[in-house]
Amino acid sequence: MRRLPIYFLIDVSESMVGEPIQQVEEGLSQIIQALKADPYAIETVWVSIIVFAGQAKTLVPLQEIINFYPPRFPIGGGTSLSKGLGHLMYELRKNQVKTTYEQKGDWKPIVFLFTDGVPTDDTRAAIAEWKQNWQRTANMVAISFGNETDVHVLKELTENIIHFKNSNAAAYKQFFKWVTDSIKTSSESVEKNASGFELAKIYGDDTLSKVDLTKPIPPQSYMDSNYAVLVGKCQNLNRNYLMKYRRSEEEAKIYGLDINRLSYRLVGAFQVDQTYQELSDESAGPSRINSDELIGNPTCPCCGNQVAFAMCVCGQIHCIGEEHISTCPWCGNKGTYGIGEGGFDVNRAQG
Ligand SMILES: [Zn+2]
Ligand SMILES: [Zn+2]
Repeated sequence: MRRLPIYFLIDVSESMVGEPIQQVEEGLSQIIQALKADPYAIETVWVSIIVFAGQAKTLVPLQEIINFYPPRFPIGGGTSLSKGLGHLMYELRKNQVKTTYEQKGDWKPIVFLFTDGVPTDDTRAAIAEWKQNWQRTANMVAISFGNETDVHVLKELTENIIHFKNSNAAAYKQFFKWVTDSIKTSSESVEKNASGFELAKIYGDDTLSKVDLTKPIPPQSYMDSNYAVLVGKCQNLNRNYLMKYRRSEEEAKIYGLDINRLSYRLVGAFQVDQTYQELSDESAGPSRINSDELIGNPTCPCCGNQVAFAMCVCGQIHCIGEEHISTCPWCGNKGTYGIGEGGFDVNRAQG
């Protein structure tokens, strides 16, 4: 049986921490379940999952769906689309079964790219390679999560750009059903010897819409400014955590701040595992944000300490509790903390 390879290339940068990554995890598991029950898909579809942040890696190597078990998704620092694409092209090349006298090769692979941000690196070389070697031999669908994805970059890769407004759980459900349906219609169309690429219909509503590339797209800056995500380390357990803030212009008005200044409201604090380091780009320098712009200080998600946002003289963030003398888990410095007056600059992760 000829294979229809499906690749999921998924952005797991810091801004995906919390609900989005949980929803993606759940959504992928629902997709696989639905495909296992589909007579066409189960015969032809093979699936692989690749994740990228500052680095890229294969989370699930290309395999038949019958043997497929949904993975847990990691989080990393940075959005290196070029490393994600590079890794995808490496996998495509490695897995490709070409048609020979003895056997029929693969159908054109379909790539679903999920991203919620703006690449933090230079994508030109990877895009040029994609255009030259893969644009005609693979089908790509780029799905932008939220509002600030860099459509300029995505449109270099594919004409199929879908905007997904990831507003709530019901929206995610609808979105993953659309992905499932698109894979089903594609696997059915290969059985009929058609193109092997047929996206399910989009019923033009708010949740899902195809991006109209004939209209001009506004320019974009190279920082994922929907969110500010800060990295902390737990003083007691020595684990990393992320504090995620969402940009909010409304909040600035309520708090009587300068409306023209950005302000960020706490979304939550989340533990991250060891993979965080592995998937982060260590060569990238931090960018800075003023603590005055941040509204809300969470408790430590690792040990439950009252304050997750204390900053050491070394510039790093850690949690503090009721102890008189705190030890910075980054640099080992000992000190006491009071409530700071006024703002200070903190290092912001790349997102
Ligand atoms: Zn802690
Ligand atoms: Zn320190």
